[in-house]
Amino acid sequence: MQLSSRLQLFNEPETLKMAKLGRELRAKGIDVIDLSLGEPDFDTPEHIKEAAKKAIDENWSHYTPVAGYPELREAVCTKLKRDNNLSYKPENIIASTGAKHSLANAVFATVSKGDEVVIPTPYWVTYSEIVKLGEGVVKLVPTKIENKYKLTPAELEAAMSDKTKLFIFSSPCNPSGSVYSKAELEGLASVFRKFPNCYILSDEIYEYINFVGKHESIAQFEDLKDRVIVLNGLSKGFAMTGYRLGYLAAHPDVIKACEKLQGQFTSGTNSITQRAAITALTTDLKPSMDMTKEFERRKKRVIEIMNSIPGLTFPEPDGAFYVFPTVTAFFGKSDGEETIKDADDLCMYLLNKAHVSTVTGRAFGEPAAIRISFANSMEKIEEAWKRITAALAKLK
Ligand code: PMP
Repeated sequence: MQLSSRLQLFNEPETLKMAKLGRELRAKGIDVIDLSLGEPDFDTPEHIKEAAKKAIDENWSHYTPVAGYPELREAVCTKLKRDNNLSYKPENIIASTGAKHSLANAVFATVSKGDEVVIPTPYWVTYSEIVKLGEGVVKLVPTKIENKYKLTPAELEAAMSDKTKLFIFSSPCNPSGSVYSKAELEGLASVFRKFPNCYILSDEIYEYINFVGKHESIAQFEDLKDRVIVLNGLSKGFAMTGYRLGYLAAHPDVIKACEKLQGQFTSGTNSITQRAAITALTTDLKPSMDMTKEFERRKKRVIEIMNSIPGLTFPEPDGAFYVFPTVTAFFGKSDGEETIKDADDLCMYLLNKAHVSTVTGRAFGEPAAIRISFANSMEKIEEAWKRITAALAKLK
């Protein structure tokens, strides 16, 4: 029996593949430290858990409106005004089953077969694969490590054409940790003004995990706002990956299109999660800010260790919870048993010899680097980096 040819259009996420390999080794009794996955190692804040429990007791157990409860869409507007000074109405908002689902909705709502989608590299793995599944044409645009992997207006302008329907980026960025300033976004905005038929998908899911100050959204430029699709969710900032809640803020036409898609694919997202999300989005951000402080403490320690390892070149991350070092200095080297050809080999070497899982930069469109998370306890991080340091030292 033949399965669908659609399955050939895209790949499974490399991040999940590495986690799976790590689990397989762990099942054999090997102590693997996971620095591959993209999720906070914290528990969901108590007051949000209480809201979820209350929702169960109050029997919020029926189908919800497809785009989300009106109170949730209102809560998203409240959040966007409070944190980002962005004015939206509930008709501008749709809640979905995780930001990944929101992303899929946004891509399918805007991109037709053959439309070009510009994505600066390195980028989050799912962007390109969802575009390919939607039969769009992915146009990857390299950025420079000297610019902290941030796209310059000139690089953007060279990549854009009249065929470009959508531009996708994240700030703070997974995997590079780069954060765009208002001035840098203004630079990109000046290019987008020349391409009025292009939507701009701004993935802001790491908004709260920012070590350099104020989060800036490209939706703040009023003349672009109708074309900007803000993507955000609860997974990272509130440690709620398993709850599955993502949302979009966009022009009502885009939201209606997403609602049409979602009405057939999934209906409204989980009712308990939606009630908990209302609390998360409108109440105390202190637990989120405390988490960010802890991420920053770990980042500083990881950077300190990395600076002592010859051969790693990297920009210091300004947000998210990853370091993304260039590892080309190890290519062509061997520990006497295995020769490292590329970043994939290095990740497998670190998994098999140091028992630390990381992710190859190839998955993010940057084959010279690997992504190493610091969303793990300080104790595990110390141990993992001790092992990584020893394993890298053996490569001659
Ligand atoms: N965007 C980025 C940049 C991410 O790293 C992730 C999670 N890895 C998501 C979106 C999706 O998050 P979720 O589906 O858990 O809400």
